[in-house]
Amino acid sequence: MAETLSLPGFVNAHSHAFQRALRGRTEGSDFWGWRDDMLELAGGMTVDRIRSGYVEVYREMLAAGYTAVGEFHYLGLAEAHAAVEAAAEAGIEIVLLLSAYARGGLERSRQESVADYLSQLEELRAAGVRVGLAPHSVRACPRDWLEELGAYAARESLPLHVHADEQPREIEECLAEHGVRPIELLAETGCLGAQTTVVHATHADAHELDLVAEAGARVCICPTTEANLGDGFAPVEALCERGIGVCIGSDSNVRIDPLEELRELEGVARRRTGRRGVVSVSSLLCFGSDEGAAALGLASWPDVEVDLDHESLAGIEAGDVHGALVSGCGADVFTGG
Ligand SMILES: [Zn+2]
Repeated sequence: MAETLSLPGFVNAHSHAFQRALRGRTEGSDFWGWRDDMLELAGGMTVDRIRSGYVEVYREMLAAGYTAVGEFHYLGLAEAHAAVEAAAEAGIEIVLLLSAYARGGLERSRQESVADYLSQLEELRAAGVRVGLAPHSVRACPRDWLEELGAYAARESLPLHVHADEQPREIEECLAEHGVRPIELLAETGCLGAQTTVVHATHADAHELDLVAEAGARVCICPTTEANLGDGFAPVEALCERGIGVCIGSDSNVRIDPLEELRELEGVARRRTGRRGVVSVSSLLCFGSDEGAAALGLASWPDVEVDLDHESLAGIEAGDVHGALVSGCGADVFTGG
């Protein structure tokens, strides 16, 4: 009988499962070029492709130690149901983060009004789906949408997830339109609260991070995707200095491995500070599980089993196993899935 160690399952707080199909593709000279390819892929997704394709992606997540996922979904309502069905078939806990999209992007991602969006959200809730609100970004949602969505999320105590500050251009456009930076706009419109998760915050400035801390909001960092897209370095040490809760996401699913996300998160912090142990091992594991669950409003989610006989743990003292997982193991160290 193999020796195993139980850990809280990892929680993938930010996924776009369909983007898994772009793994290995190298088109696009920068984020915006990649986005063109991504939107072309999104435009071709059907309910059937989502239903069958997402099962495979969610199985890959489970095998990698993720036992819950927040699916940030902007492909339509019938497609949202298909994603939830795929998660059920794979056996992963899902919170469907239904994206609100007023402008830009693809027609299938957009709703005509906030009322139209909320009726979609309520249809999912009525069907028993765990949901969160997800104004896509300050690019996609104007001020009046953000105000209504922030108020609804607060009233209903639902998670609210939003992309912000992933790319400098988004900040320049927000300053031009609103005279404030993206997270400042979220704060002004009631979209920054204790239930909020800001996805990326790569280029957030000190004032924006102060606002996140004051609100008790979280930041979701997606290190392998942020590296792949050339987004920049997450401000890990600035987040930790402020006591901001951090969670992780596989985002584009170019890589599905929570240990690699955590290793890269700490690696970014070490490279920026020239210090080791910027985030403790126990905090990193908390980022990977508890913080993600809190970001999704999940009270419980399945554990994961570490194979202590795995070759990458050979010779490791019992007290060093957690550290070795983060620094020296891949997701194949987990059993089953
Ligand atoms: Zn995203």
